[in-house]
Amino acid sequence: MIAHTQTLFGSIALVAVITGSCLALAGQLNSRDGMLTTGLGMLSHALAYVGYTLFGHAPMWLTYVLANTLLSAALAFYTVSIPLIRGKRPPWRRAFALPLLLGVVLSLLINTEGPRQLSACAVLLLQCMIIIYYSHQYALPAGRAHRVLMLGAAVSLLGLGIRVVVILNNAPVEMHYDVSNLKQTISIAIGAVTIIMLSFGLVLLSRERIEADLKSNALNDPLTGIGNRLSILEQLQDELERSQRSDLPLSVVMLDIDHFKQINDQHGHLAGDQVLRHCVQHLQHRLRRTDRIGRYGGEEFLLLLHNTDALGALDLIKELRQSLNEAPAVIEGKPVPVSFSAGICTPNKHTPEDVTSVLLKADGALYKAKNAGRNTQMLAEAI
Ligand code: GH3
Ligand code: MG
Ligand code: MG
Repeated sequence: MIAHTQTLFGSIALVAVITGSCLALAGQLNSRDGMLTTGLGMLSHALAYVGYTLFGHAPMWLTYVLANTLLSAALAFYTVSIPLIRGKRPPWRRAFALPLLLGVVLSLLINTEGPRQLSACAVLLLQCMIIIYYSHQYALPAGRAHRVLMLGAAVSLLGLGIRVVVILNNAPVEMHYDVSNLKQTISIAIGAVTIIMLSFGLVLLSRERIEADLKSNALNDPLTGIGNRLSILEQLQDELERSQRSDLPLSVVMLDIDHFKQINDQHGHLAGDQVLRHCVQHLQHRLRRTDRIGRYGGEEFLLLLHNTDALGALDLIKELRQSLNEAPAVIEGKPVPVSFSAGICTPNKHTPEDVTSVLLKADGALYKAKNAGRNTQMLAEAI
């Protein structure tokens, strides 16, 4: 089916104006979520198409140079939206240098036919490739929005490719914006698919980012950056099941900083926070990649030592304690000694135990370690 080219441009522009205005309005309140730039991209895209509808009825600098520069600016807006949504610094200058360059080149080539059309296609092709690269680069782990963006930009490459082939086959006139033919209809319809896929992709990416932030806030401890109680208890459940399935030992360590109240009282609460961060960094640095650490309570932490039996856990905790004793926290240039006590529980692989009973045993062992004078560790079996 051959559509009337200028009517097609006009219809797509109308849809893009409505959607783009909604996104720009919604994004105005929070320009950092990328919706404002996405909306501006769509408005710029719509204006470009309005320019094309006037082709043959208005000067070339308006219907060709400005219209294509606006289309290129739209792609630049989509490009910067991707890092913006992911909370990263967008490459504003580099992204908008391309539309600027295109504007200049098209002004110089305004009286040519093929070279003018090919330069426009070349810059737009490059921008679509940049969008594909950025979509891949800024994809969220386990996210899917980047695929919509990559597909949208790839579809656009196809539309531009059709134009390049027609122009190179010595038929640039067929690609004039006031000519209606099948290639033109396909190429412009592809443009519509691009607008829809890119804007949807960006909205979906923004949603995925918000979901990822909410999940991270729900599971992470903001002070130390490690998993919170909810997160480490979920991991404990998983690790217990894994240990029983795989027949590999798991040691669970409940660790509590000694006389932490005194540290707060002597140095202040903020210094106490710093000491907590210092302890976590120290422990994290020495644990294996397969081990887990989480903040169980105020100054209490849970360690899950994968494939570690009771004696292995005992040795590791001794080593951690000693190394922490030798590495005091530094508050305002002065060393603040820190120590911890720990209770270790290594559930029997052959008698399944639930999270509560493991925690009770580790807590009991920790209580013993405190009573034994602190800065030590106890095995739950020894209770
Ligand atoms: P013990 O050796 O018996 O463990 O003594 P302790 O002083 O460490 O134990 P206690 O439970 O009496 O005190 C823990 C303190 O930790 C009390 C609480 O105010 C403080 N605390 C809990 N969470 C935080 C935090 O996020 N930041 C700071 N600075 N202090 C915290
Ligand atoms: Mg304590
Ligand atoms: Mg405590």
